[in-house]
Amino acid sequence: MMNLLILGGTTEASELGRALSSDRRFAATMSLAGRTRRPQIPAIPTRIGGFGGVEGLVRHLTQNRIALLIDATHPFATQMSANARAAARVSGMPLLTVLRPAWQPVDGDHWILVDSMPAASEALGVTPRTVLLTIGQKDLAPFAAAPQHRYVLRSVDPPPPEALPPLVTVISARGPFRLDEELRLLRDHGIELVVTKNSGGSATQAKLAAARALGLPVIMLRRPLVPTDETIGCETVGTAAEALAWLARRHAASPRGE
Ligand code: NAP
Repeated sequence: MMNLLILGGTTEASELGRALSSDRRFAATMSLAGRTRRPQIPAIPTRIGGFGGVEGLVRHLTQNRIALLIDATHPFATQMSANARAAARVSGMPLLTVLRPAWQPVDGDHWILVDSMPAASEALGVTPRTVLLTIGQKDLAPFAAAPQHRYVLRSVDPPPPEALPPLVTVISARGPFRLDEELRLLRDHGIELVVTKNSGGSATQAKLAAARALGLPVIMLRRPLVPTDETIGCETVGTAAEALAWLARRHAASPRGE
């Protein structure tokens, strides 16, 4: 058996965990940051909490005799991904990144592309608007600093009250969301603008189709860029199925592989 560590927190990581739970070639462990109150625990051994930076991750890999590292964190989890790349370099460990493709605009979309949350907040303008925020719980400060707008904030867990803008309705919900649900949400709250990150994936994509159908602008946070030199030696795939194929190739090529 090959020991592998999956850095999780995404649908793809959970899919991978499910597929590996009955695969006798691998002993997989899932790692979660511990951000959500009721995480969806996969059917494989799971550890929760940070490692303590690159050094802590390298130590964890060594102590647990990990042979393969899979970074299946969210496209915006930049710190964890950077740590994974650094730890893989230091320890000479094969690293696979599972990065779901970004959403692309289609005919009828009106996206305003931004590179930061302060820029997203600025793009709302000075005139009071009703805004749907689907950006998670972090990074709310720029919106709290634009208190003229009325916000509807949807996240898995409610953010701490002190982080919230004054005029806010908080909706705690976990995807996947259907188009009819998203249309109802936008209509019922009189949403004029949507703010989101380009997370990609199908679970939360329906809001984009709903905004398109209602002719609403979407302020879209672009994905962070990864320095090219950091990606050398790391392979990237877009789906859990491709990650399984990569694992199968690695196992077959290992000294004790089939
Ligand atoms: P981040 O800013 O990149 O990571 C900050 C620190 O949290 C890391 O340095 C690490 O601490 C710890 N950490 C993050 N992911 C971890 C994991 N899977 N296992 C163990 N420790 C982890 O990450 P984030 O943006 O806060 O995201 C946290 C988690 O939520 C990730 O697992 C991500 O996949 C998931 N998520 C994030 C987003 C998003 O928009 N950012 C959306 C959905 C889900 P140490 O340095 O101490 O190791």
